[in-house]
Amino acid sequence: MATASTETADNQIKIIEDATCTFCGCVCDDIDLKVENNHITEAKRACVLGKAWFLNHQVEEGPSCRIDGQPASLEEGYDRAAQILCGARYPILYGLSDSTCEAQRVAVSIGDWVGANIDTTTSVCHGPSGMAFQGVGEVTATLGEVANRGDLIMFWGSNPAESHPRHFTKYSLMPKGLFVPNGRKDRTCVIVDVRKTKSAKAADLFFQIRPRKDFEALWTLRALAKGIELDPQLVERETGVELSRWQDLMDRMKAAKFGVVFFGMGLTMTRGKHCNSEALLALTRDMNRYTRFIAKPNRGHGNVTGADNVVAWRTGYQFGVNHARGYPRFNPGEYTTADTLSRGEADAGLIIATDPMSNFPQPARDHLASIPYIALDPKETPTTRAAAVAFTVATYGINTPGTVYRMDDVPIPLRPAFDSPHPSDETVLRAIESRVRKLKGISPDV
Ligand code: SF4
Repeated sequence: MATASTETADNQIKIIEDATCTFCGCVCDDIDLKVENNHITEAKRACVLGKAWFLNHQVEEGPSCRIDGQPASLEEGYDRAAQILCGARYPILYGLSDSTCEAQRVAVSIGDWVGANIDTTTSVCHGPSGMAFQGVGEVTATLGEVANRGDLIMFWGSNPAESHPRHFTKYSLMPKGLFVPNGRKDRTCVIVDVRKTKSAKAADLFFQIRPRKDFEALWTLRALAKGIELDPQLVERETGVELSRWQDLMDRMKAAKFGVVFFGMGLTMTRGKHCNSEALLALTRDMNRYTRFIAKPNRGHGNVTGADNVVAWRTGYQFGVNHARGYPRFNPGEYTTADTLSRGEADAGLIIATDPMSNFPQPARDHLASIPYIALDPKETPTTRAAAVAFTVATYGINTPGTVYRMDDVPIPLRPAFDSPHPSDETVLRAIESRVRKLKGISPDV
């Protein structure tokens, strides 16, 4: 990694090599940025989404803090935020997936001190997979292993061509690896989905299954893995695909040297939810009787995997964790934020780097609008606009250093391009935490 600067009379140009893109869970860390007068003008190797992330980046103008919509000093904001959280009986803490691990760690501490309900955006994407990991476990590998070894690559309910544009080229299909020296030619790509997505064009075998029948399709494969005889008519009626094609796929899966299945929200957020994820993880485990086979969720937000890791190592659970009794309790559906808000339970909130006012169900939005909450975001959003205390923060990865986790749980350092006039979310959270501790009378040594 290197940073080079060239200065002319009125123009400063900086090159940041191997910067990290945090727009999606691929977290590509090979992007060369050209920075001119605190504006990114080039992002080499970034995909179309990454380019938009870097090149459209604007530092928000205006104050770093607003209280009830009015400009305020950061100190006033920290004080008010701590008072709101300490005065609440059922505070919620939500978001975290577009923030550094260092900031996430502080946020979880705040949640712990005030007995909050801690939840991340995982609860609205791969939460069912988080539940399935606890039930079934996960046979896993890094994306580096996939690039070097994977010869049968499956995607289930996932459309990386649109959601993770460099997934195929950097990690899963195209790279020439140690044991797949001819890259794409050494691999078979299988895509299972309910519709022909853009990714389907990349498939050697495409399985268009009936909508909401992922569970039945996965159990068909589990049965075939065990050599159980199935009724062809029943299989085709239930899954929409002939039994002979499933058998052919199972033969290929058993014959593969290193099989991989990436799965997305097309699996986790359809009928069956965590049962679907469990079925897929169990199938992967079954396949290891015959060959090496692994499964990985394709994660969306840049550091949602970090949020899972940090919340899990601090509390024992990935998301939906309640601290009201002084110890963590996990119960998705009860302690997930859309639910606590929709039922009108929360009486204060700390929302970090997410915009529930734009994407939560209406009852949850109505209740959030009725309670005092603190919001941290680099941009003004409907959530920051309705917040009692809104902090405009620097953008992680572009303005602040730190650590994020790639979707395969590999930690990646950030290499910021230029400073922001706004504080980082870690700075804001640390200041709030110190005031919370004071109000709660917690010694600095604890
Ligand atoms: S694939 Fe994802 S992380 Fe990589 S450059 Fe594109 S948006 Fe950024």
